[in-house]
Parts: sequence; C-alpha cells; structure tokens
Amino acid sequence: MIKETLETIAQWVNGTIEGDQATEVKGISFDTRKISRGNLFIPFVGERDGHAFVVDAYQKGAVAALWQVDSEANKPEGLPIILVEDTLVALQTLASVYLQQVNPKVIGITGSNGKTTTKDMLANVLATTYRVHKTQGNYNNHIGVPFTILNMPYTTEVLVLEMGMNHAGEIAVLTKIAQPDIAIITNIGEAHLEFLKSRGGIADAKLEIAEGLTAEGVLIYPDDPLLTERLMGNTPFERQHFGVSENNAIYPTAITALMTATEFKTSLTANTEFHVPIVGVHNVYNALAVILAARRLDVAADEIKAGLAIVDRTADRLEWIDGTKGIKILSDVYNSSPTALKAVLETFAQIQSDRRKVVVVADMLELGAQAPMLHAGIADSLTPAIDEVFAYGPYMSYFSEAAKSLLSPEKVHYFTDLTKLTAALQDSLVGDELLLFKGSNSMKLNQVVAKLTDEA
Ligand code: ATP
Ligand code: MG
Repeated sequence: MIKETLETIAQWVNGTIEGDQATEVKGISFDTRKISRGNLFIPFVGERDGHAFVVDAYQKGAVAALWQVDSEANKPEGLPIILVEDTLVALQTLASVYLQQVNPKVIGITGSNGKTTTKDMLANVLATTYRVHKTQGNYNNHIGVPFTILNMPYTTEVLVLEMGMNHAGEIAVLTKIAQPDIAIITNIGEAHLEFLKSRGGIADAKLEIAEGLTAEGVLIYPDDPLLTERLMGNTPFERQHFGVSENNAIYPTAITALMTATEFKTSLTANTEFHVPIVGVHNVYNALAVILAARRLDVAADEIKAGLAIVDRTADRLEWIDGTKGIKILSDVYNSSPTALKAVLETFAQIQSDRRKVVVVADMLELGAQAPMLHAGIADSLTPAIDEVFAYGPYMSYFSEAAKSLLSPEKVHYFTDLTKLTAALQDSLVGDELLLFKGSNSMKLNQVVAKLTDEA
C-alpha cells in the first residue's frame, strides 16, 4: 500500500501542509472504525461532514489527514494536515499518481451482473503467473476504486479492478483514474434502469469504460447488439467479443451444468476442459471474458484451467440448501433482475438431475416504467424442464399470465400473499424436488426458504 511522506503526498494532490512534512503515512482510511496505525485519514463532506471525525481518527492511529478548505468543522490544532480544495478529488488524484508509480497492467471490469465473479476468477487465473492485486469485496465506486489502487503493494504486476455505477458518467471517472490496458464489460442487463431509462442508456454508460483505455488497450465485451451497434466502424482501441455464436473471438463448444459446478470447452482452447466450481451457465460467459483477458497477458491454457478451478465462492450468491422432506433449494433471494433471473432459470433447467424442478419467483424491483413488460418477458426463459412455477408479488402477475400460456396453466400458481404461497408450497412438495428461489430482497422470499428448511 502507499507509503510516502506528507511532503510527497501534498505535492501529488496539490495541497498545503500544516505540521511536520516528514511525517510518513502508510495506507489511507476514511472510516474511523477501520483505521490502521500510520494511516492518512480522508474525510468527505457529504450528508454528514467527515471532518468532525478527524480528531477521533488521530486517536485511533491515523498520523495525518486531508482537510477540505471549505469544511465547517473545527480544524484541530497541532496535528499534521494537508489542506486541499476537495478531498474526493484529492483521493482520486493521489490514486492515479500512485498507480503511475507502481505501473502495473490494469484490467477494469464493469457490467450489470457478474463483475465480482469475473474479477475473482480473473485474479485467480492471473495469480498463476503474476503478482496480482484486486478489488476487495465490492469496493467498486468513486471511493472504492481509488482505495483499491492505494492499497496495492509496490510490487504489483497486474491490478484487477471492479467498476460499478448507478448513473451515467460514473464509469468515465473511474476509467480515467485507472487507465486500463484491458477493459471488460460482462453484460448489459437492467440494473439501474430507473436512472438510465433504457438498456441503450445502460450500454452507453458501460461503454464509458473504453474512454480510459490506453493506446494499445483492448475492449472485451459480450456479443450483445446494443454494444455491437455502438461499436461499428473504427474505434481507437482494439475489440474482442465473446458469446454463443461462431462469429465471436471465443465461444463455448460444450457446456455441462452440474449441481454445484459448470464444465465447458471453448473454441480457442480446443483440448482443455474447464471446470468452474460454481452453479450457473452464465459463469461460462464470465469465464470467456476471463480467458480472452488472460491470453492477452500470455497466460497458458493449463494455468487458466487451474485458476478457474479454484474460484472463490463468496461472490456467488447462489447456494444449495437442504430443505424439509429431502428437497434441495437453490436460493438467491437477496436481489433479482431480468438478466440475472433469466440466467439462473436457464441454468436451473439445464442442471442434470432426475428430480422434479420447481421455480419460486417474486417481484424484481427498481425497474421503472418497463417493469410489467420485463416481468412478462421472463416467461420466455421457461422450458419444459421446469415442472412447476410459483409466482408472488404484484409484478409477477404479468409473468404468471405469460407463463400460463407457455407451460400448461395448471403448472403455474400465482400468489399475492406470502403465507398462502408458503402453505401451497408445503402442500405440494413430495421430497424429490429441486427448488429455485429468486426475488428482490424486500419481497422476503427468505422467509419462505426459512419455513422450508426449518426441520431439515
Ligand atoms: P454488484 O452490482 O452487486 O457488484 P456484480 O456485477 O459484482 O454485482 P456478481 O456479484 O458477480 O455481480 O454476481 C451477482 C449475481 O449475478 C450472481 O449470483 C448471478 O446470479 C448473476 N450473474 C453473474 N454473472 C452473470 C452474467 N454474466 N449474466 C447474468 N447474470 C449473471
Ligand atoms: Mg460486485
């Protein structure tokens, strides 16, 4: 992590020092609960003015702090401080100068779904060959990205950054700080449709990641018409896309969905069978992006295979739980979006098993005016491999109507009440079922899962 004197840091962020300029800081922090000894504390002026915590930060081990000139908090006397115009800008500037000093290859990853999964897969794959630093958890925004950069060791060879966003313009800021050599878009979904209005708007926002690409940089992206139509003609950077069909730089040649893992081969790596120990056919596509990026950095197929085989499962929200009567539940009840739901429905249908397959779905929230249409559209992902469907919530009525005309009507059950849904499910289960649960967190499907796992 960054280790410099106040004098150097003040130069980098164009600030004025008060106190001992020889003070050496090690690492940064903006949360007094997470300070380590020697940190530079960075307060932000937001709904609450973080400058009010500066004294506390020193008591907990910080040795210096940035101070935004217009903060109305009481500036402590006698403690080393760097005065700056804007602490957020200073943080971002500090990160980009530090990045130039360490000078690793940089990979930036954005997309509606699969960023963390792709980031973790890619970091594992690259770690077979390089010294890698990656975003911890979900630190993927205007503060998290600089934080990740400033935490990277001086010896880092490859930096893998997750970049998230809610609004247009946010990825542009991140990519200009990071200046990636490789930019990856995992997919274009519907997350944040409320702010970005249309999937086209989402595509534009994700494509901002290319604005920071270096001259020899490459953009790796899915074969989605929304992206390909925006990338027609010449671009100042190289492009590679992945997807289902043969016109892609890489495509899967065989996919096997197992209950807790996914296996596949690809067009670029003919003799290698990859084994990813997580559920979800969508992860094959995340892995295709990983393979393109890894090959760009000359990682051999065997190393890629080894890296993909040890994927850390914490990013994966899909988990199997044993339920009552011997049922098995694949649960993802903390968020849902059309893209993620379609992906998991397709995976669930493809899982090799003789058991009956039951799907329990609840409303997807924050979709704006297109919510009814998007809910109805999910029905297209149902196949005869699904034996029964339970749907819950106002928007799911649109899905349920569409589902009835696709599957036979008696296979589709619609509820407006969680207790009734639970009772109906409990009545219908024999014990030989696989159940899939997915819905937005506030729809509380977790309560139904809890009932079905009570005595298990
Ligand atoms: P966040 O915006 O919360 O940071 P993320 O983009 O980092 O999300 P992950 O945490 O990697 O995404 O994955 C979240 C869920 O998205 C997974 O559990 C899975 O259900 C779904 N998902 C992952 N990859 C894809 C994909 N390529 N296409 C569709 N859905 C996906
Ligand atoms: Mg994430």
